[in-house]
Amino acid sequence: MLFEQLESLEHEQVVYCYDKATGLKAIIAIHNTTLGPALGGTRIWRYTDEAAALHDVLRLSRGMTYKSAISGIHLGGGKAVIIDSDNLHKGEAFWRRYGRFVNSLNGKYYTAEDVGTSPRIMEYIAQETKFVVGKPDYLGGSGDPSPVTAYGVYLGMKAAAKHKYGKDSLKKKRVAIQGVGHVGQHLIDYLIKEGAEVLVCDINERNLDLVTEKHAAVKVIDPADIYTVDAHIYAPCALGATVNEDTIPKMKFEIIAGAANNQLKDEIVHGALLRDHGITYAPDFLINAGGVCNCFAELNPTGYHRGMATSLTEQIYDRTLEILQLADRDNMPVQQAAMHLAQARIDAVAKLKSCM
Ligand code: NAD
Repeated sequence: MLFEQLESLEHEQVVYCYDKATGLKAIIAIHNTTLGPALGGTRIWRYTDEAAALHDVLRLSRGMTYKSAISGIHLGGGKAVIIDSDNLHKGEAFWRRYGRFVNSLNGKYYTAEDVGTSPRIMEYIAQETKFVVGKPDYLGGSGDPSPVTAYGVYLGMKAAAKHKYGKDSLKKKRVAIQGVGHVGQHLIDYLIKEGAEVLVCDINERNLDLVTEKHAAVKVIDPADIYTVDAHIYAPCALGATVNEDTIPKMKFEIIAGAANNQLKDEIVHGALLRDHGITYAPDFLINAGGVCNCFAELNPTGYHRGMATSLTEQIYDRTLEILQLADRDNMPVQQAAMHLAQARIDAVAKLKSCM
């Protein structure tokens, strides 16, 4: 069945990694390396079973291909997942062992942070391989990508507002954020500064406390109410697949713009359903690309270039507007319009390579 899945999503390679001493079980998926080496973070998560981990890594790595392609950076798409459990010894040896697996791919795959990993973990990995970014700044790395990701999401949200309302101000717009972790917290800072009304939910009380201590105006809602709340904008910043046949009919939102990867449970079916419901969707892989732009700026031959990361991220505003207009013009769901554009760049470069 694995090869069938690889064929349908068009992956190049999937690598299973196991280490008895540390209990490490990882899957690295390389989706496409036409534009450059595959880059994508390492996620550590308590998957229900191995099939769920495989499903996640295949979808996430494909998303990275489109994310880098649409952002105009010279990277392919890859991702890694580690199956978390109580039996793991997740200390330095664990992460170094994982670094050796990354190193064995000899630069075809670069890793970085994702859910459950941090710049400190990248530091351990970097002891065993040079194919890692998102290292701490004291090692010349780009550090935590979340602030840059949040900036891009904010700009993508503003572009979606410009498309929907004719102006990009978020003042007095009610924004419902699902998940106030790394990205969600930085996104709130931008929204509050602009005068938006912010509603949040999370399953982690500590993160909610951090937010409400910093911003008294932020209103906390029950996670169960997030899809039905009366707000202009929904910002998914927790999990994927929250936009689906169950949630869309309940929504009163006018715009969806958030950081979570793979927000649409089925990109074709639910992209079309959003359009039918008149909800403007800012595609996730387009507006959450700030983090990968930050990583790309770390691969700069003369070292991490913050200005490069910022300027690449700022392009998200114009690109989102352009794609929303393209989708209107061609009468197609915006997710599809964005994917066509990304695929066209990959196909053009692949064609060039085949002529050489
Ligand atoms: P995070 O783990 O720091 O934060 C996620 C938050 O969502 C946590 O506070 C968690 O408690 C909360 N959450 C989980 N399940 C929830 C639920 N059912 N309802 C409400 N809240 C829930 O992750 P992050 O780094 O902030 O990333 C958020 C999302 O954005 C992830 O899907 C990630 O893959 C994606 N993303 C992140 C980056 C980045 O730079 N960090 C880049 C691109 C995409």
